Amino acid sequence: MSALDSAIEEVLHPAAQAPAVRGAAINLLGLDPAALAELVAQWGGKPFRARQLSQWVHQRGVDHFADMSDLAKEFRAQLESRCVVQAPPLNIEKRSADGTRKWLFDMGMGNAIETVYIPEDDRGTLCISSQAGCAVGCPFCSTGYQGFSRNLNTAEIVGQLWYANRALRLDPEGARLNGAAVESPQAVSNVVMMGMGEPLLNYDQLLGALRLMVNDHAYGLSRRRVTVSTSGVVPMIDRLARDCPVALAVSLHAPTDDLRDELVPLNRKYPLAELLAACNRYLEVAPRDFITFEYIMLDGVNDGDEQVRGLVEVARQVRCKFNLIPFNPFPQSGLKRSPPARVRLFAQQLSDAGLTVTVRKTRGDDIDAACGQLAGEVKDRTRINERKPDRARIVIRNKEHG
Ligand code: SAH
Ligand code: SF4
Repeated sequence: MSALDSAIEEVLHPAAQAPAVRGAAINLLGLDPAALAELVAQWGGKPFRARQLSQWVHQRGVDHFADMSDLAKEFRAQLESRCVVQAPPLNIEKRSADGTRKWLFDMGMGNAIETVYIPEDDRGTLCISSQAGCAVGCPFCSTGYQGFSRNLNTAEIVGQLWYANRALRLDPEGARLNGAAVESPQAVSNVVMMGMGEPLLNYDQLLGALRLMVNDHAYGLSRRRVTVSTSGVVPMIDRLARDCPVALAVSLHAPTDDLRDELVPLNRKYPLAELLAACNRYLEVAPRDFITFEYIMLDGVNDGDEQVRGLVEVARQVRCKFNLIPFNPFPQSGLKRSPPARVRLFAQQLSDAGLTVTVRKTRGDDIDAACGQLAGEVKDRTRINERKPDRARIVIRNKEHG
């Protein structure tokens, strides 16, 4: 079984959870609202106590129970003896000239993940990681190139948001460009699950994190401002629709199965027709009335007129918007970014055909925070040679296109 097949098997049929270790501290960042309410109830606390505690932890970013002044003394003592509020340990923080900030967190055993904050006039977007590494193995992605190391748990996913809000509150310089007012009192007004990893292959832990993000007593983000980006794990798109529908972005990258099989290996398991049908089912409950299709622009690979025609056909089947992403090269990929003129023309052709299309601005280039550069220090755990044929085929196609 390949690493990707076992990752899919694991998310579809998760092994029974190991029982919680008796005596180990409970990290409150990892409890979704229902689990926190249950814990407080077990201790004889009223539901409003759980809400108060949640506000202290998630909204005010307080990690010392002694500072939670309106909680009863005995309750604080109980928390002190049994619980912690603990984000992953920080390795490095980097700041870009354009205001982008990147935090590298230590995940143990030589693994690291990255979180990136992107300030704009009217919002502050946090790009969060869901796994150390990724099993999908897209040949244009440095995370995929490194292979899969491990899933993050809910506390580690939410911990990135908790940490960022706190860091930006303590040192708000440039937290928003031009300091424009926004509806959220927190620095982070939008979350995109577009960091390292395939969020839908870490479903249960992701779900706990999403539930905290949209909970009024935790981060209170509107469902429209939380986006899950997926390479297309069809059964889990359906589960997300049922459990916690937030905005959905799908990494399309190719309009036909033959090309998508090469660029997004998960397509061999869940081909385009199934993916597009899942997108339509999702739209029935989605907080936005379109799916965002991400489309990386690779020179001579997927940026031709043929693909324009293919995408027009895709857009006939699903209500969608396209986001074209200039490829951020990394040495091992053997791939090149489409020239800016080609990207502009591609966008124009789609737009002329009546499609809604934006081109992603590249941010944080000077600190390697742009998409796909989230290399961290994840060790290469995969047999890279297994994937070499993919790369070779893509290069040949590249040559055919001249
Ligand atoms: N696994 C999920 C989410 C993380 S990747 C997914 O694939 O959707 C987030 C986005 O970054 C995806 O659209 C992905 O295609 C894009 N990306 C990956 N590598 C990139 C690179 N080298 N340059 C630009 N975008 C990249
Ligand atoms: Fe994984 Fe997404 Fe990278 Fe593909 S693009 S390897 S799915 S993180």
